[in-house]
Amino acid sequence: MGKIAINIATGSLQQQEMIVGIDLGTTNSLVAIIHPENRQPVVLKEHDGNALVPSIIHFDKMGSITVGDEARKYLITEPQNTIFSVKRLMGKSYNDLKERSSFFTYKVIDDNTESLVKILVGEKFYSPVELSSYILVELKKRAEHILKTPVTKAVITVPAYFNDAQRQATRDAGKLAGLDVLRIVNEPTAASLAYGLGMRNDETRTVAVYDLGGGTFDISILRISNGIFEVLSTNGDTYLGGDDFDLGIVKYWINQQGIKEEELMVHKGLAQELRLKAEEAKKHLSSNTKFKGEAGGEQLELNRGEFENLIKPFLDKTIECCKNALADAGLSSKEIDEVVLVGGSTRVPVVKEAVSKFFGRDVHDELNPDEVVALGAAVQADILAGNNKDFLLLDITPLSLGIETMGGLMDVLIPRNSKIPSKAARQYTTQKDGQNGMRISVYQGERDLVNDNRKLAEFNLSGIPAMPAGLAKVEVSFLINADGILNIKAKELRSGVEQSIEVKPQYGLTDAEVEKMLAESIQHAKEDIQTRAIVEAKAEAQLLIETTERFISKNQSFLLSEEIKRTNNAVAELREAISTNDKDLVQKKTEELNEISRPYAERLMDEAIKSTLKGKSI
Ligand code: AMP
Repeated sequence: MGKIAINIATGSLQQQEMIVGIDLGTTNSLVAIIHPENRQPVVLKEHDGNALVPSIIHFDKMGSITVGDEARKYLITEPQNTIFSVKRLMGKSYNDLKERSSFFTYKVIDDNTESLVKILVGEKFYSPVELSSYILVELKKRAEHILKTPVTKAVITVPAYFNDAQRQATRDAGKLAGLDVLRIVNEPTAASLAYGLGMRNDETRTVAVYDLGGGTFDISILRISNGIFEVLSTNGDTYLGGDDFDLGIVKYWINQQGIKEEELMVHKGLAQELRLKAEEAKKHLSSNTKFKGEAGGEQLELNRGEFENLIKPFLDKTIECCKNALADAGLSSKEIDEVVLVGGSTRVPVVKEAVSKFFGRDVHDELNPDEVVALGAAVQADILAGNNKDFLLLDITPLSLGIETMGGLMDVLIPRNSKIPSKAARQYTTQKDGQNGMRISVYQGERDLVNDNRKLAEFNLSGIPAMPAGLAKVEVSFLINADGILNIKAKELRSGVEQSIEVKPQYGLTDAEVEKMLAESIQHAKEDIQTRAIVEAKAEAQLLIETTERFISKNQSFLLSEEIKRTNNAVAELREAISTNDKDLVQKKTEELNEISRPYAERLMDEAIKSTLKGKSI
C-alpha cells in the first residue's frame, strides 16, 4: 500500500504494491508487513487471530494439496502423505540425510547418490523446492486475502548457516510460488531489525541473537554501527531444536511405558501421536510444573524437573555454540550489549535462564519469539522499498572461496568470514606456449590442497588467442551478491575473451560439515604447510624444466655441446627429484639446474642485446 498510483489505461487509482516479509520456518511460517498508517511492523493474522501457518503439506488421494493447520491434522492418520520439516531437506542430497532418515515419516527417496533429494507421495515425486513453494503459495494467498491486494514481491529469511545451494533453493521456491524474491535475509539480522537495535545512527551495539526454533539452532554475533549491520560470527546446529525436545520426551515415555520398537514400526501413527502429545506436554510445562495426558491408550506424565533433565544435553550444546561464536568474533561475553531471543523454544523457562546466565544480562523477549524474524523481514522489505534509506545489511561467508592453481593448490580469493556482498579479483597466466584455454575450478574450504576442499563449479575459458606462455593475462573475479550467491568471471585482458558462471552447487553442506571442514583445516595445518611447500617446489621445478628445454631447443646452435650435455643431465636429475616427495632435494636440484643454465642464458642475452644495438649510434 503506502503509495498510490494512477493506472493510465483505466484511469483508476491503484494502490502501489507492498513488499512482504516472510519467515519460512521449519515448523511454522508467517508473513509480516509495515503497517501503512503507524509504520510499525505487524504480522498478518487471519480472523481467528492466528498468524502462524504450520509448515506442513498434505496430499489427498486425488493429489490436491492443503497447507497449514488443515494439513497438520493428517500427521497422525496419513504420515506418508503429510510432509513436515521441508526446510531440513532444502539443498540436500540423500547422503546428507541418511543418518536422519528415521526422522521422516514420509518417503524420502534413497537413490544413494549425491543428487538433490526427492520425496515420493502417492506416485509422484516432489522436490523440496516444490514443497516449499506450496507453503509460500499458501502464505501469498493468505496475505492477499488479508490485504485485499496482489502480493508479488517478498523478502524471505533463512538461517545464517544456509549455504549458496540452500539460499538458491529458497529463492527458487519463491519464484515457483509467483513471488519476486527481492532479498534473502539471515534470520538473526532480521531479529535485530525487529527490535530496532542500533537503529539510531550514533550508536554502536554488539548483539547476540540466540535462535532456538523447532528444527534449527543459530547463534549470531552482530555489530550494528552507524546503521550498518555486520555479522561478526555465526555458529549453530541445523539439527537442534524443539523437535529434539519432543523426541526426547517421546523416548522417555516409550521407556517408561515399555512400548516395543516393533509396535512403533507397525503403527507409524502411534509415533506421531506420541510426538504431538510430547509437544503439548513441553508447551504446557513452559507455564506449569506438571503434565498429565493420554496417547494410544497409554497414560503419560511428565514434570518440569524431568523435562529439564531431558533437554539439558541439548541446552549445553547451544551454550557450547555460543562460546564458539564469541571466540570466532574475538569477544568476551561482557562485550555483548544486547541478547535477543528468537524461536518458539526460547519460551522454555530453563532455556531463557541459561542464556541469560551465560551472557550475564537480561535478554530481549518482549516480542513474540515466533514473530520476531517475520517482523524484521518486514522492516527489511521496507528498507528495500526505499522507505528507509539509512540502513545497509552486511553478512559474512562461512568458508573460504578460491580456485585451483598449479599442482592442485587452493588459491583463496575470498577468505572465510569476509563480509557479504564481497568482491575479489586476481590475475593468472598461461603455462604453455599457444595455450588457448584455461580451466577454472572453484572450491570452498580451508585446506591447502583443493582435493581436501569442496568443488563448487568448474568451467573453461576458451578462445584465448595464441601467445607465448606467461603472456596471457587472465583475470578471475569473484562476486558474492547480497544474497550470498557467488558469480565467477574469467577474462583474458589482452583479447577481452570472457566467460562467467553463477554457482548453484548440486547440494548443500550441513553445519556439521562446515564445522568438520574447519576442524580439519586446523588439525591438518602443519601437514598442509608441508604439502604446500613440496607442491610449490615441484611446480617451480617443472616450470624451470619446461623453460630450459624450450630455451635449449631454440638456441641449440649457439650452445656448446658440453653445455647441452650438462644441462640435460641436470634436467634428468631434477625430474628424478620431482618423482620423490623430498622438497629439499627438489630445491637443491632446481638450484643446480639454474646454476648450469644461468651463465649461457646470460651470455646469449648479452649477445642478443649487442646484436640489437649493432649499427645504432648511441
Ligand atoms: P519456530 O521454529 O520458531 O516456529 O519454533 C517452533 C518451536 O517452538 C516448536 O518446537 C514448538 O514446539 C516450540 N514452542 C512453541 N511454543 C512453545 C512453548 N510455549 N513452550 C515451549 N516450546 C514452544
